[in-house]
Amino acid sequence: MIVVETKRKIMSKIDNEDWLKVDLHIHTLDDPKDVIDYSAHQLLERAKQLGFGVLAITLHDAVFDRTEVFADAAAMGILLIPAAEVRLQGADAILLNVTASEVAGLKNFEDLRQLRGRRGMSIFTIAPHPFYVLGGSIGPRLLEEIDCFDAIELCHFHKGLLNPNRRAAKVAAQFGKPLIATSDAHQLHAFGRHYTSIPRSTALTIENVFAALRQGPLRLTSPPASMVDLASAIYWIFLAHPFKLRRSQHRHRTPSTHSRGSSLESKSQT
Ligand SMILES: [Zn+2]
Repeated sequence: MIVVETKRKIMSKIDNEDWLKVDLHIHTLDDPKDVIDYSAHQLLERAKQLGFGVLAITLHDAVFDRTEVFADAAAMGILLIPAAEVRLQGADAILLNVTASEVAGLKNFEDLRQLRGRRGMSIFTIAPHPFYVLGGSIGPRLLEEIDCFDAIELCHFHKGLLNPNRRAAKVAAQFGKPLIATSDAHQLHAFGRHYTSIPRSTALTIENVFAALRQGPLRLTSPPASMVDLASAIYWIFLAHPFKLRRSQHRHRTPSTHSRGSSLESKSQT
């Protein structure tokens, strides 16, 4: 188990029960681009069992805003942050505490820069899986757009030398940004093992969570992938998920697009 700890001296004073588990990159079946087989309520149940305090459901290019789910989360003692994983100029960005209309107005990184300027500390953005090959990873462009991000993700999928997180960690250190571990869960069993912990504060508010993420100390929990995880990921990325996507697209196809079967893609989003 890899547990990365920051500001070790401060942390030694914090007991285990004083840490709050946070996962800020999760998908559910509400996702408009991915085919996911668990609901937000199933996620909440699992999060409650595993002792999570803060979650963000980050649908692709859509803000999760079902008010009944936010109310149920609050009743369970979980802070749910309105969020989205948007793709800007081919690169994904996790946006926390945003509205659907704010996201609808984003076309490029310059728009995101302006939104961040207007919102100040009340918005928090993360560069997800920046140096991974699959999906919409930002890659070296992260250096040019670094001012668009408050933090850099420690991606859940790594094993030994197969670890593009090392480059992400270097960039984070270079620019003084926190690294944040997330699950990027697309399957329910994948949620719960990869997360960030922040010191508990008296009031569980979005403002306090963002302040804790910015100031640290943070505790990152991100175990390396097992052989079963690797096999399961390969099965999911190359077989199960493309098949589900194709089936879903087939169901939603209109007769006019049916003839253009070759335009269908089984592109994996992350
Ligand atoms: Zn994702």
